[in-house]
Amino acid sequence: MSRDDGVYQHYIDGEWTDGTGEETFVSENPANGEELGEFRRGTEADVERAVAAADEAFEEWKELSHIDRAEYLWDIYHELKERHEELGEIVTMECGKEISEGKADVTEAWHMVEWAAGDARHPKGDVVPSEIPSKDAYMRRKPRGVVGCITPWNFPVAIPFWHMAVALVEGNTVVFKPAEQTPWCAQILAEMFEDSGVPDGVFNLVQGFGDAGNAIVEDDRVDTVLFTGSAEVGHKIAGKVGGEPGKLAACEMGGKNGIVITENADLDVAVHSATMSSFKTTGQRCVSSERLIVHEDVYDEFKERFVENARSVAVGDPLDEDTFMGPLIEPEHKEKVSKYNQLAKDEGVNVLVDREELDADEIPEGHEDGHWVGPFVYEADAKADLRCTHEEVFGPHVALLKYSGDIEEAVEIHNDTDYGLAGAIISEDYRQINYYRDNAEVGLAYGNLPCIGAEVQLPFGGVKKSGNGYPSAREVIEAVTERTAWTLNN
Ligand code: GLU
Repeated sequence: MSRDDGVYQHYIDGEWTDGTGEETFVSENPANGEELGEFRRGTEADVERAVAAADEAFEEWKELSHIDRAEYLWDIYHELKERHEELGEIVTMECGKEISEGKADVTEAWHMVEWAAGDARHPKGDVVPSEIPSKDAYMRRKPRGVVGCITPWNFPVAIPFWHMAVALVEGNTVVFKPAEQTPWCAQILAEMFEDSGVPDGVFNLVQGFGDAGNAIVEDDRVDTVLFTGSAEVGHKIAGKVGGEPGKLAACEMGGKNGIVITENADLDVAVHSATMSSFKTTGQRCVSSERLIVHEDVYDEFKERFVENARSVAVGDPLDEDTFMGPLIEPEHKEKVSKYNQLAKDEGVNVLVDREELDADEIPEGHEDGHWVGPFVYEADAKADLRCTHEEVFGPHVALLKYSGDIEEAVEIHNDTDYGLAGAIISEDYRQINYYRDNAEVGLAYGNLPCIGAEVQLPFGGVKKSGNGYPSAREVIEAVTERTAWTLNN
């Protein structure tokens, strides 16, 4: 049983266990403060046990065919689909995303599992010509070994599968440390792995905080660390792991994402894309847009329509289908968003919408303890060196930046951040779109679309401060396999 005394456990080496620590922590619904469950807090010793189990299990797991390994994932794929509604609600209850997004998280998870398990039957590696006729030359892939997966709370079902699905099918074993804000979702994933009958030690869950994540990063037997989360933590992990020969960290981090709206944009598309990208998930996506770079010819009309949306988007109970934005994840995060809103004011921007404190009648009954915040929208000098227009807030905090020149100028403003994750252009002119595609410094570029909603069969990752050269989703294969150049003389 996973919950004998009312406290959820870790799943290590095919068993539910209290682990070695005395401490527990609780998961809370960010929309009303309700306690959702109590969980064991993992220690370094628990991580050490989980890594040892994964290391041992690797020896047999790697000997199975891709197709046999994928069978376990197909079971999970069906379960994710069958339990779509229920799991979507759990995601919403635990991380506060509006219900359409809670369900989309589960959908994205099965897309990833489908990709990885389906890929088991695809060709692996390359056959290449040799300069010598009698030689056969191939590129073959081998699993790296133990993969540590450290995942964020904002996609608590999808992102763990971005990491784990491909890693497992390729023959690696996994130690999973989910975000401390969403342990319930992680618990359910572990139950799915248990139900799938995956051999002991192939999948291990250690619940807990940064100290447990750090123990994964520092363990010599962990061959690859897959991390999605803040730039602050990701750069530390990449730095630590980079110094260790043979070890690799793939880090997918935040963004200060922009949308360019040119003088010949379709404004219906522009307003829709900006509203979705800025406010869905309450701006708590690494791909959310916080910078709208708008040509002066369409600026006034765009501003009026976007501001109208920012004033009227429904903030409220995320389980309610009519809600557009749920709460922020936790009080500390609300404080951070609020600090950036204040900073923007201190930096002298022109505030257009300030719904930081919701009116009492906007807060749904029984949800007074939720971490509520509404949109904060302002206009600022596009070329000024302001912190509020350059640092990631991870909330519904959006700057309108006006430009008057050509597409080159717009893209220069767009690229003027340390980050490079996602971005979009809204334009009816193919030359502008092509210029943006070729010059935007981002890993995920969109044309006439919101800059959220990536699909798993494309690489997911950024450039500059947003990534370290190993994108996630389908590209995880590069981080979890070794490539061997194999040449045979016949
Ligand atoms: N999959 C999400 C999207 O493209 C982003 C994931 C994230 O924010 O971490 O919208």
